[in-house]
Order: sequence, then C-alpha cells, then structure tokens
Amino acid sequence: MTGTALNVAATRVGTEALGPGVRSALWVQGCPFSCAGCMAPDWIPFRPARQAEPGDLARELLADPRVTGLTFSGGEPMAQAAGLAEVARKAREIRDVSVICFTGHRLERLRTRPPGPGVAALLAAVDVLIDGVYVAALDDGHGLRGSSNQRIHHLTGRLAGGGYDFAHRARSAEIAVNGPEALLIGVPPRGLLDAFDRAVDAVRTRTTTPTRVRGQEHDER
Ligand code: SF4
Repeated sequence: MTGTALNVAATRVGTEALGPGVRSALWVQGCPFSCAGCMAPDWIPFRPARQAEPGDLARELLADPRVTGLTFSGGEPMAQAAGLAEVARKAREIRDVSVICFTGHRLERLRTRPPGPGVAALLAAVDVLIDGVYVAALDDGHGLRGSSNQRIHHLTGRLAGGGYDFAHRARSAEIAVNGPEALLIGVPPRGLLDAFDRAVDAVRTRTTTPTRVRGQEHDER
C-alpha cells in the first residue's frame, strides 16, 4: 500500500441518488464529527476497513460506462483528502468525470486551516462541495444535503447549469442488496430511513444474517 491508499467504508458503482446523472459513490471510513442522527454511525470510527489504492478505486468506480461523475462521502472525505484527490486524478485519466464531495468542515476553514494533507488538491478537483455538519433540527426534507445549514458550493461551473437543484430538489434514495447486506444510497426522503431499518429488522428475524449499511451519506451533514 502507498501513502495515498484509502480506508474505504463502501463503494457503489452506478447510482442516480447522489447527484446529477449516473455516478459512482465512494464512502470513506472515519469521521471526526459525531452528529446526532448521523445516518452512517458505523462509518464514524477511525478503524481499519477496506484498504484500496487510488488507481484501483478509479478503475472500479468507472467500470460502468454510463458513469459520468463521482461522489465522495463518508465518514469525512477531508480526513482522506490526499487519497481522494488521487482517485479523482486517476479517474480523469480514464474519463472526464465530475466530482461532488460532502464534508462536515466549512469551506472557509478548509481554505485557511486545512485539517490535513491533500485538502487543497482535493478542493482543486471538486466541482461541487457540500459543506457543514448535519443538524437534525434543520433537516427540511429537501435537497442533496441533510440539513439546511449545509451549503452548496459550485467550485467550478461544470454542474451549475444543468437544471439539477442541489439545495431544493426532491430527495431520492436507492437500496442495493448484495448478499446479506443492504445499502441505502442517497439522502433519503422523510420516513424512508425508519422504513429501511424496519425492513432490515424484519428480514433479520427470519434469516438471522442480514446487515444494513446506511450509506446515504452525509445526508447527514
Ligand atoms: S453526519 Fe457526516 S459529518 Fe456528521 S458524523 Fe455522520 S459522517 Fe460525520
């Protein structure tokens, strides 16, 4: 493994729930925040998960030729900024993808007091940054963000003119079932998360094996 190897919580190749078009999502393991109501509490601890090289991840995420963009979430992407910047760079050697990134940090802080190495490189690769921690009391049920304090920053104009309203669009989510694991992808509309948990629990009582991964992502921010 190299110095930019990533500690990956999950990936999803081909989703329409995390930004415009068909995208691939990468969730990193580990987050310094502990937002009440975080959809992915299993991905908060900084513990070893899947170790993967940026080049391998880029090829994996672009395996579906329909994919036109990447979405980074977690966990906290800025905690693995150097590796994610390298994923974006390697991916763009294959295809000119757009990049959306969630973060609990504010953009101003990232620019003036970056929390770790590679933050400037990742920001330079990102087209849309969605910043701020999740505040449950400000969850208004709209947009590709978990709460209204989170801001949409078009760092480039690439995804600004396509009619995709990041802040106000109706939410959508997908559920991917892979063997005994069910992954919830996207920022779920109100009520879906509880319904998802109830469904997993119902199946679990019958089989004893299924697990849930609420990988929304920072829907929770
Ligand atoms: S909502 Fe996002 S920023 Fe907050 S604890 Fe969960 S992963 Fe971290």
